Amino acid sequence: MSKSTDWKQKYRDSLLEMEAKEKRWREVEQLLRRLIGRLCAAGLGQDSNLDDELTTLAAANRHNADAAELERLAASLKTAVVAVDGVSRVTRAPTQLSSIGSAAARSARLDATGAAVAALLECLKSGAPSVAAIQTLLEELSVAKTDAALAAVVQRAADLIHERGELLVRERLQAAALLSEVTQRLEEMAGYLTESNSASLSHFDDTLSLNDTVMSHVRELTAEISEATELSVLQSAVSARLESVAQQVSDFRAREQTRQIEYNGRAEHMRARIADLERETQELHSKLDLEKHVARLDPLTGVANRKSFEERFALELARRAQGGAPLAMLLWDIDSFKVINDSYGHRAGDRVLQSVAGCFTAALRSTDFVARIGGEEFAVLLTGLQMAEAVNVANQVRTAVEGLRFHFRGTPVRVTVSCGITELNQGDASEQAFDRADGALYRAKNGGKNLCVAA
Ligand code: GH3
Ligand code: MG
Ligand code: MG
Repeated sequence: MSKSTDWKQKYRDSLLEMEAKEKRWREVEQLLRRLIGRLCAAGLGQDSNLDDELTTLAAANRHNADAAELERLAASLKTAVVAVDGVSRVTRAPTQLSSIGSAAARSARLDATGAAVAALLECLKSGAPSVAAIQTLLEELSVAKTDAALAAVVQRAADLIHERGELLVRERLQAAALLSEVTQRLEEMAGYLTESNSASLSHFDDTLSLNDTVMSHVRELTAEISEATELSVLQSAVSARLESVAQQVSDFRAREQTRQIEYNGRAEHMRARIADLERETQELHSKLDLEKHVARLDPLTGVANRKSFEERFALELARRAQGGAPLAMLLWDIDSFKVINDSYGHRAGDRVLQSVAGCFTAALRSTDFVARIGGEEFAVLLTGLQMAEAVNVANQVRTAVEGLRFHFRGTPVRVTVSCGITELNQGDASEQAFDRADGALYRAKNGGKNLCVAA
């Protein structure tokens, strides 16, 4: 593919991707609106004030009220809910029978709302950067049996949606910048084409007029020849005509040459602009890629951050569940790190973190994955390794850290790490695997630190 079709393709791909995202976002919005409708219906019948608020909110939701309007109504609803809560705490004393009836209705409402939230979360999953977080929420939702638990899940789902919305807005802005850049360049090219077109039109006119001039000289010469009586008169008439035609042709050539020079200049300028455009588009793409990449790195150590670990972990677990190669997860924690901080200062602690991260990246293969998932905690995924091999690799890393010979302002600082190792089973949930590795790490600490323990 040539460079120019390459950037056009990238441009089209970006647009298609934006459209797909927008479509998914619309689906999420529809689900949210359905969820609001169900929640409104579920809340009816407890208090007449509350009923009014819920009916107004449901109507606004049906008529696609904008976010500001919905937010205002939600705030007003909140006040009504608080008022009802206050009253119900003091006055409600339901009979045994009605409480059984309302408990059944309540459980049905909870189930219906839970199903709507689950549908919303499933929809959010597609193309989501935070699949792991959504999976966790789905699991919490499946055991949420009270209003409060459900509300907590809904709140976190709302946070996720908000995050996703912000991401979409950022990507939209980036795409808009790219679009305006490309549009500007296309306008430049259109201008160039118009100029070339008018230049070739003027060339065409000039050729026609030269043709007319030559033809009229030929006609007049023919008349003069038929009228000429003497050879000398005839000779001078022919030579005058020929001179005039020669002059016209030479003028025409001079104009053609100027036109050609202008044309070459414009073509050269255009080639340079197209090269610029390709370079700028390339730079813009690299910048966007870099920004995406940087958002996934821990700024202190340069290894992946917790967020990208969660995504990668979810991906690897899914691969494993589908019968993928064995996979080991290693949870690391720097030993007595607080003592290092307390004795030598936070800056020394930071440098220890960097050195330890360096030991990880030096020891691991390109297919492995290391991330700083907490203050002085790292997680590593080793692909294709069984437990015994994973323990070997872990001990190599542990020995490398032990041998760091770290000095701070001339004082040797002993740095060691402990590790809990688990193999990932098919069908493992991330929490199960994490808990096993964490348990093993706990045993490594209790066993005296600077140890690697298999779960
Ligand atoms: P253990 O061997 O049991 O793991 O003990 P520990 O001292 O390593 O563990 P603890 O959890 O008590 O202390 C961890 C310390 O890590 C506390 C916190 O101040 C420090 N820490 C967390 N993040 C950073 C960071 O980014 N830089 C520095 N310098 N210190 C950090
Ligand atoms: Mg720790
Ligand atoms: Mg520690």
